Amino acid sequence: MEEKISQIQKDFLEKINKSSSLKDLDKIFIELFGKNGEIDQLPKEFSKLSEDERRKIGPLFNQVKQELEEAIRVKREGVREETYKALEKEDFTMQPPRLQHKKRQGHLHLATQFKKEIIDLFAKLGFSQFDAPHIELDKYNFEDLNIPKDHPSKDMWDTLYIDTGNLKVEPGSLLLRTHTSNFWPRLMEKGKTPIRAMSFDRCFRYENIDARHSHTFNQFEIAVVGQVNQAITMANLKYLSDYLLQGILGKEAKSRFRPKYYPFVEPGVGIDCLCVFCHGKGCKICSGTGWFEIAGAGLIHPNVFKATNLDPKKYTGLAWGFGPDRMLMLKHEIEDIRFFLEGDLEFLEKF
Ligand SMILES: [Zn+2]
Repeated sequence: MEEKISQIQKDFLEKINKSSSLKDLDKIFIELFGKNGEIDQLPKEFSKLSEDERRKIGPLFNQVKQELEEAIRVKREGVREETYKALEKEDFTMQPPRLQHKKRQGHLHLATQFKKEIIDLFAKLGFSQFDAPHIELDKYNFEDLNIPKDHPSKDMWDTLYIDTGNLKVEPGSLLLRTHTSNFWPRLMEKGKTPIRAMSFDRCFRYENIDARHSHTFNQFEIAVVGQVNQAITMANLKYLSDYLLQGILGKEAKSRFRPKYYPFVEPGVGIDCLCVFCHGKGCKICSGTGWFEIAGAGLIHPNVFKATNLDPKKYTGLAWGFGPDRMLMLKHEIEDIRFFLEGDLEFLEKF
């Protein structure tokens, strides 16, 4: 029995020393202390021993048992420590997968690319770019545009007003501009005619945000002002509409006018574009009509001339504005307007 115990001790200490993984040590532990393990089975044989032998074997058995347990514990710690040391040498600073195979280079946002395209298109016709303030006075955003204070037509725009606080302006007279149209009274009041100007910029409205509406959106607008004898007419408006649509969508693009009310123009029109998807036959995107509305336009109202100190008998003009975001959504089949404002890389990298 004594020999048997010594043999187990020798064999297993050797095994423990040679083992190099926690998995091996677990296996050894089970071989020794598990059900039917060497150490587990030994006491069953003690009954065959004489009392003297048992007195001798008992302490030896306990000593070897503890020794083997301790050897496994120490070896486990050693293996763990070695594993940690090996891990410390590893480089775990991972790079995002996309960086591993291509160098990322920034590019202009889809809306900015479109802005450049349209600005270039109209610069060829002699239009110069003009940006008006985003935070605007009621005067330029509404009053000068023939939308008097407290007039019901003001309800056509869901306006975000700015708390004027201690500012030296009339309460309620400061707002986030609802359209780019604020640029033309600002230019007109300077009296430097003729005017041939354009603006592509952000506007803001108090909208419930969904796939088609956003509180922040782009508008592109042009204004032409000249003397009455320069014959600025609806025919010019029609030409400019087709010029824009064909410049963006190709030669087949067509526009049509529908009478529409806007306070700052007379006559006013809504401009529709022949559906690029069905060529006028009617499809889901154009709601079966063959056309979709892209712009509002008209000849500048005499009251706008009066408000900006220009004589409506001497001057005439046209103005025309459209939503580039909507145009881009149609052109690229973008389903949600919110993509334009969110920094979603997957979306941005598509264009
Ligand atoms: Zn269609």
